[in-house]
Amino acid sequence: MRRVYLDNNATTPVLPEVLEAMRPYFGEHFGNASSIHHHGQETRAAVERAREAVAALLGCRAAEVVFTSGGTEAENLAIFGLARAGDHVITSTIEHHAVLNACKHLAEYRDKYPETQGCEVTYIPVDGRGLVDPADVKRAIRPNTKLITIMFANNETGVVQPVAEIGKIAADADVYFHTDAVQAAGKIAIDVSKIGCDLLAISGHKMHGPQGVGAVYVRKGTQLEPMLYGGSHERSRRAGTENVPGIVGLGKAAELAIAGFERGDDLKMAGARDHLERALLGIEATGLNGADLNGERAPRVPNTTNIYFDGIDGEALVIALDLKGLAVSTGAACSSGAIEPSHVLTAMGLRPDRAKSSIRFSLGKQNTAEDVDFALGLVPETVARLRDLSPVWPKSAVSR
Ligand code: PLP
Repeated sequence: MRRVYLDNNATTPVLPEVLEAMRPYFGEHFGNASSIHHHGQETRAAVERAREAVAALLGCRAAEVVFTSGGTEAENLAIFGLARAGDHVITSTIEHHAVLNACKHLAEYRDKYPETQGCEVTYIPVDGRGLVDPADVKRAIRPNTKLITIMFANNETGVVQPVAEIGKIAADADVYFHTDAVQAAGKIAIDVSKIGCDLLAISGHKMHGPQGVGAVYVRKGTQLEPMLYGGSHERSRRAGTENVPGIVGLGKAAELAIAGFERGDDLKMAGARDHLERALLGIEATGLNGADLNGERAPRVPNTTNIYFDGIDGEALVIALDLKGLAVSTGAACSSGAIEPSHVLTAMGLRPDRAKSSIRFSLGKQNTAEDVDFALGLVPETVARLRDLSPVWPKSAVSR
């Protein structure tokens, strides 16, 4: 059976060049990158080459890149590395749980142990397009605000936040600014100096690198309290023997991402995504009624579209499409099976039933125009079939 994978925001396949770059570091080049002998020097050099590549992707110095075990650890290091008892932290209602739950923990600590003060957290809402208003961020700043953590691109809708404006506000107020760029890296160009952030997190497996490796940009001079205690790896910012094959893979993925931008792959991908969207929504010939975009009219990364299909249950549609060979999702992979509708879509003001009828399609570098056609061949008929079975979908509202 033909299988097409359009769930690249959950994870991306490792590109063949990335796998090839990693392979020797599972075998012949096995040294501990901290060892001073030949074997260690060989892997140390590979780690430092990867650091240069990630720095080139982010527009920073190599010394400002700290490798971690993934996006979640990178977010946690940024947040817990800075926030202290008595501090105030600003975030948004649409963050990934790696940020939301870290912030929740900061605030819970305050509730549990009031004598320690803990941290207070302000959650900035978004508008119907899924955008944070920088003016709201500015208004939320208090004398004890230590950190603003607002994501670059949302994992469910692909909506890109006004991070450069927020960076400016943070700098003017002398507040640290962290941005979760896990869903932006490799999809749109990133330049930390243009964003004006102090910290920025990325993850290997969202950009065709391996799972279990990530990095955080830490602006020179930013004093981060480490989360792990051990050796003095990563300039004492992240203890633990480096995951050399993973880091090499992330470095190669960063190099390929830069080459992709130079070729205009991002524009091509936006074209494929727009075709999928227009065809599903009826702007082209075969559209469906009772369906529309979530996050319309907002700037988005080129690979993501999130669409609601009235009258269907999103999970039922994901399963029905999977049975026919198409992999998509209802949103974040880590929220699969959740009873509650997506916190991102409801924060944008979607009715809970619409949020539950929403599907995320996310393209990757491996996808072709034929993959999009395959999806277009399946989605309208599957939606129509599920609606026919639905007790809530009026039979008069025939799917076109
Ligand atoms: N932030 C965002 C926006 C994500 O989409 C994800 C992964 O789903 C993460 C953070 C966590 O990254 P990782 O899976 O590498 O821990």
